[in-house]
Amino acid sequence: MSIRFPDPDPGILARRETILAGLRPLVGPEALVTSEDERRAFETDGLTAYRKMPLAVVLPSTTEEVSAVMAYCHANGVRVVPRGAGTSLAGGAIAQEDAIILGVAKMTRVLDLDFANRTARVQSGITNLAISGAVSHEGFFYAPDPSSQLACTIAGNIAMNSGGAHCLKYGVTTNNLMGVTLVMNDGTVVEIGGDHLDSPGYDLLGLVCGSEGQLGIVTEATVRILRAAEGARPALVGFSRVEDAGDCVAAIIAAGIIPVAIEYMDREAILITEDFAQAGYPRDAEAMLIIEVEGSDAECEAMLARIEAIARDFRPTSIRVSKSEAESAAIWKGRKSAFGATGRISDYICMDGTIPTGQLGPVLERIGADRADAL
Ligand SMILES: Cc1cc2nc3c(=O)[nH]c(=O)nc-3n(C[C@H](O)[C@H](O)[C@H](O)COP(=O)(O)OP(=O)(O)OC[C@H]3O[C@@H](n4cnc5c(N)ncnc54)[C@H](O)[C@@H]3O)c2cc1C
Repeated sequence: MSIRFPDPDPGILARRETILAGLRPLVGPEALVTSEDERRAFETDGLTAYRKMPLAVVLPSTTEEVSAVMAYCHANGVRVVPRGAGTSLAGGAIAQEDAIILGVAKMTRVLDLDFANRTARVQSGITNLAISGAVSHEGFFYAPDPSSQLACTIAGNIAMNSGGAHCLKYGVTTNNLMGVTLVMNDGTVVEIGGDHLDSPGYDLLGLVCGSEGQLGIVTEATVRILRAAEGARPALVGFSRVEDAGDCVAAIIAAGIIPVAIEYMDREAILITEDFAQAGYPRDAEAMLIIEVEGSDAECEAMLARIEAIARDFRPTSIRVSKSEAESAAIWKGRKSAFGATGRISDYICMDGTIPTGQLGPVLERIGADRADAL
């Protein structure tokens, strides 16, 4: 796969030293990355297929600094690419040689926690997992959970409208975002949304969320925090046919049960992740579902019993319900390290698809047939 990047603007390259001199006083010398060695850390993202060395990297600490940098770049015709942790799989955080990267990784402060109204106000460079870490002492958490949550920032999550395994019940970023501070391309600072869901006026927040950094720099965000459930338990169900796994998902949803997560893996994914994580996945299965429910012990038991009864209609090769925290953690460790485990054996391209629930079985069967043809 190759992509042709436009040629860099020679005028900007020739003015590099002047531009650096203009940026330095706005953020201080410590926050301006200019050496080739240090810029190399920013030349790619989680996709890794493309590399481009940015003109420079600016790492501001406040909205005011971001605004000053944007105003300078706007006035001097310098292009800016925003960046969080650089875990994106779409190349969006990579800048060309004539553009600067504006990274928010130093902006990690928690600004306000409001447990009564269930909100957290944070700087946008805070990692996804650190938001839950900041509120867990009161029994709260931040729901969207991309597998990269240890590293990725809420800024990147907003730009990509990220979600994770638990989006089945809790939604993705857009469903948990209430407001942002956005620095526009000319340095103007605007507040969008507010501190509760569905603010009055046009849904500009919905426009910003998922806009891949093209509308401005998000410097602060107000997100919804939720009270953590009493407990959660995953079950592993193995199947001898991929379409049975897909049909089982459709049947669970059709029965009105909303597990907190349902994750699917085919045989190759099971073997690759099991080799890496020893999570106890069924090596003999063609496909596997991780189905997690949450609530009190009694609620989990009741929901799992209903799910098990439904799964039995689809000829499962194994059903295993987690019996301990350690077992549950191992099950999720396997799923969450699936990318890394795959990367150990091969390059890969990651794509997301949307399939109507009722079509899961046939679509998975067709994907399997196409793969067999391609081998
Ligand atoms: C191992 C692995 C697992 C992953 N799992 C998931 C997953 O389960 N679900 C999922 O959705 N994604 C997943 N991803 C993709 C990635 O982690 C997410 O897209 C994440 O939200 C990116 O966050 P980041 O901080 O790394 O952003 P970056 O990669 O730094 O940037 C991503 C985009 O956001 C823009 N951006 C960054 N900061 C700002 C800002 N302050 N203002 C405006 N725009 C900005 C950038 O320009 C870029 O377009 C995974 C990636 C990896 C490597």
